[in-house]
Amino acid sequence: MKSEMTNNGVLVDIQNLVKDYDGPTGPIHVLKSVNLQVGEGEFVGIRGPSGSGKSTLLNMITGIDRPTGGAVTVAGQSLVELNENQLARWRGVNVGVIFQFYQLLPTLTVLENVILPMDFARMWNSRERTERAMNLLEQVELTDQAHKFPNALSGGQQQRAAIARALANDPPLLVGDEPTGNLDSKTADRVFALFEDLVKQGKTFLMVTHSVSLAERMPRVIEVFDGKLHDNGSRRKS
Ligand code: ADP
Repeated sequence: MKSEMTNNGVLVDIQNLVKDYDGPTGPIHVLKSVNLQVGEGEFVGIRGPSGSGKSTLLNMITGIDRPTGGAVTVAGQSLVELNENQLARWRGVNVGVIFQFYQLLPTLTVLENVILPMDFARMWNSRERTERAMNLLEQVELTDQAHKFPNALSGGQQQRAAIARALANDPPLLVGDEPTGNLDSKTADRVFALFEDLVKQGKTFLMVTHSVSLAERMPRVIEVFDGKLHDNGSRRKS
């Protein structure tokens, strides 16, 4: 059943996922046996109160953290089977992560920030890496900022640079943890339109957002509440 679904256009397949953290007075049950399937090319919003487990869920999908129980398969790879090194390598080519505060490296230029994931994954040769990074910066309209350091850019520009970096190795899955949360509404709209374009181009996008107006523009929204997922408009309910 699982592998069939993986081969059937399902990019993210979560089965009976449990995540507990150790708390001062015993385990904190953050995710209580949740199931989720996300198809290739879906644009999915993730909402829920602060502390409900949205980041934890993303961390399970990107392999940044490990589940207490259950199975997570992304792009046909069962993540629990990978060790830390394999996970880092796998993540580098399969997932692009976009953060609320951009997380660009301040000592590298915008161009060098975009090249870094290609260096890490040893994708393409040196000249191709630069060419590819410049193409990505053109796609996010930052060609003229390529040789500047991140702190010379506005918030919206830094986030667009971070989007170019997330696309560096052409991953099938993009994940955003409140990626518009630090932007004014006009800039957030522009960045969101870029996400919509990427989905049109075939990327799968999972995005945590607190914005009601942005969530309304997403075809599917998952609500994380009390350790469970509530799916508003799923292609495949689980
Ligand atoms: P959200 O992203 O919805 O705000 P999180 O996923 O960050 O929520 O956190 C969910 C719960 O798990 C919170 O109660 C938080 O305190 C707890 N938590 C998150 N990470 C850890 C950790 N590394 N150790 C212990 N508890 C954690």
